[in-house]
Amino acid sequence: MNWLEKRFLRSGKVKDIYDAGNGKLLFVYTDRLSSHDVMLADKIPHKGQVLCRLSAYCFANCEDHGVETHMIEVLDSNKMLVKKLFLIPIEVIGRNYLYGSYWKRYQSGEVQLPEGTDPVLAARLTEPVVEFTTKFEAKDKPLTEQEIVSRGWLGTREIVQIKKTTLELNELMLKDAERAGFILADFKLEFGIDEEGKIILADEAETPDSSRFWDASKYQPNKVQESFDKQIVRDYLEKVKGWDKNQPTPGTKLTKPILPEEIIRKTSQRYIQAYERLTRRRF
Ligand code: ADP
Repeated sequence: MNWLEKRFLRSGKVKDIYDAGNGKLLFVYTDRLSSHDVMLADKIPHKGQVLCRLSAYCFANCEDHGVETHMIEVLDSNKMLVKKLFLIPIEVIGRNYLYGSYWKRYQSGEVQLPEGTDPVLAARLTEPVVEFTTKFEAKDKPLTEQEIVSRGWLGTREIVQIKKTTLELNELMLKDAERAGFILADFKLEFGIDEEGKIILADEAETPDSSRFWDASKYQPNKVQESFDKQIVRDYLEKVKGWDKNQPTPGTKLTKPILPEEIIRKTSQRYIQAYERLTRRRF
């Protein structure tokens, strides 16, 4: 067993996490991919590097704008040393478009849209919306601010701070997306608390895994939109005979590779393109 194996803590959906000592964690961004809520056995070359380098790019941008993040150092193209935090057990969702679960909740009358928003699928919201969901439950459930306070997770002042930071970050990411010819429909952030009680941006940001990006040139309201990074895999899986029938329950893993080389190669290229377009850097 080598040094790294001894320090292994856990595997998330995408990252492997190691204890780096002195209050630090080592994140290894892997090439794992999920589709239709199922973890696929196939790996997408360079995906881990793209996620790590995009997060690093976004975190550096945050620090430049006075938003503290957990990043300490990028060690290798897919490895990041971060501050170990007490993770606040909620996911913070920023939304610019009426899509996904927000669209469903709008249709069933659970949410009110910002005034003046066209009530059609994939419409741009007249102003961004910040919402909260549970993190450690099988299916993410929306959380009201009162619920967060009454569960003792955050106080009202901290909620205000997180919402402000999320909106600031949205502005930064929107600029990158617009310049890159992407639409940033919505995104997820996680925050943690450090030893001094400060709220710090954690996990990852501005990656295709944590954000929903659409190609701006293909955008049409009132329609289902293509996901820039995942569409090739989704389209393929939907055509595979028997995929639906054999699809394991959401949340499980597929143990047998099923994606053809061509689909893997094209998807890998999409991730690299996302990196290059968002950061204006060569991969
Ligand atoms: P998941 O399966 O939860 O989507 P990932 O593969 O992204 O997870 O693994 C990252 C895990 O590490 C997440 O559970 C995330 O909440 C947690 N995490 C992120 N940043 C920190 C941090 N700075 N300290 C402690 N835990 C963190």
